[in-house]
Amino acid sequence: MKDRAYQFPTPEHQCCACQGDLSPGGEFYSTICFLEEEFARRNYCVSCWAPEEGGETTSRVDRSGIFAYWRTRRPEEPDGEAVKIRFDPLVVLEFFRGLGGKAEAESKVEPETAGEEEAGAPPGPSESQRRDLRFVLSLLLIRKKILLLKGTFIRDKFEWLELQERRESDKTYEIANPELSETELEQVRDAIGELLQMQV
Ligand SMILES: [Zn+2]
Repeated sequence: MKDRAYQFPTPEHQCCACQGDLSPGGEFYSTICFLEEEFARRNYCVSCWAPEEGGETTSRVDRSGIFAYWRTRRPEEPDGEAVKIRFDPLVVLEFFRGLGGKAEAESKVEPETAGEEEAGAPPGPSESQRRDLRFVLSLLLIRKKILLLKGTFIRDKFEWLELQERRESDKTYEIANPELSETELEQVRDAIGELLQMQV
């Protein structure tokens, strides 16, 4: 069940908006969105993603379920393996912020204790998925000193990390420690690396 949530289709060298080919050696945009109960990576050509570069006025991409995006390049060889990019703290931070929902810095979000499958709830990752991902992302960001650990406290039987962005110190977060095993930690970290196509 847990594994399934992180599965994603093999990236195709095709734009998800216009179905055009992403040419070898060419640049395109990769995104992470949440589709049908799992995270997925979707690729878009530059002219669909950023029409100002292509002479159009509106983007053909609906950015509402997108958690993070980055600009990347397809390898020259037609069948070349996608190359993992070096750790990019800004993409990781964007993914981390995206998982937190809106305006967390101003109104501290209490952990949801209600059922995760409530009727009428907007589709999105479950609370436990969010919690696992955000915790592991925060560890990566602490390691790179993008997030600073200000302290810890216990609430609702969880240990919580109090975090602050180094560059924008008004942005603070409280992240629950889901107490994952070493194996689970590695699974989540690998999933993040695969989703972001990044060395983490
Ligand atoms: Zn396109």
